[in-house]
Amino acid sequence: MRQLRDLLQQAQQNGQAIGHFNVSDLVLLKAVFAAARELNVPVVVGLSEGEREFVGTRQIAAFVRNLREEFDFPIFLNADHTHSLAKGIEAAEAGFDSIVFDLSSLPIEENMRQTKQAIEALKAINPSMLVEGEIGDIGSGSEIHDSSPDLSKGLSTPEEAKQFVEATGVDILAPAVGNMHGMLRSMVKGETKKHLDIERISGIKKAARVFLTLHGASGTDDEDLRKAIRAGVNIVHINTELRVAWRQGLETALAKQPDEVVPYKILPSVVNSVRDAVSSRLRLFSGTQLVQKA
Ligand SMILES: [Zn+2]
Repeated sequence: MRQLRDLLQQAQQNGQAIGHFNVSDLVLLKAVFAAARELNVPVVVGLSEGEREFVGTRQIAAFVRNLREEFDFPIFLNADHTHSLAKGIEAAEAGFDSIVFDLSSLPIEENMRQTKQAIEALKAINPSMLVEGEIGDIGSGSEIHDSSPDLSKGLSTPEEAKQFVEATGVDILAPAVGNMHGMLRSMVKGETKKHLDIERISGIKKAARVFLTLHGASGTDDEDLRKAIRAGVNIVHINTELRVAWRQGLETALAKQPDEVVPYKILPSVVNSVRDAVSSRLRLFSGTQLVQKA
């Protein structure tokens, strides 16, 4: 089985990005895996500290490892938004393939110092674990927001991206380029879209020369995502769109079967609803030419 680093490299050469989807239960995991298998593209499932708290760090690692082995399929596991080294070590020891070590709320000097320390500690446990660092402000909470926070002051610059990568040695960088965690109510209804600063992405890619992740991509304009991938984004994170599909699928299923109590008769339609959401994003990230099974 090829490593995540090789698949990112291959996707980059093909002008494609790898989809990263957050999961916090078995329904979401089944849906992400089904969509990726159907399209035969590599995929990353991610869990934030809160999501890991609910599912179990070692338990999700066992599940994903099992899917990868039983189906010989490139599904990878990421410890999303990890704010302490202790939680990072827990994920590394459980066998996560990558980690987002997120100290973006700290001043950049402190962020760099602690991220560098974390990389050393994590690579000592698993040398092939990919470590992502984060700079700038993209808001928090993959939820539905009533109003848009002002993130304009927290946009990343090519200079700080270069400085951060050189000082820390991160494998992957998550910059702030117009992206935002969560979705506005108007985005859930499809009335508005997020837009990205494509020139900023190009500048950061040229300066930082590492893999780039776009966080908070739910609700982003399709054409902006295509341009962002061409400009150097390698991983795209989608969470809120899946959560919305999960809830809508569940509400529809319960309304259709008001007396049903058997979970495995109710939940398949939730899996389908989420799978469709994942599938449409994976198609976009892969372009028309799909990656062959690795
Ligand atoms: Zn994120």
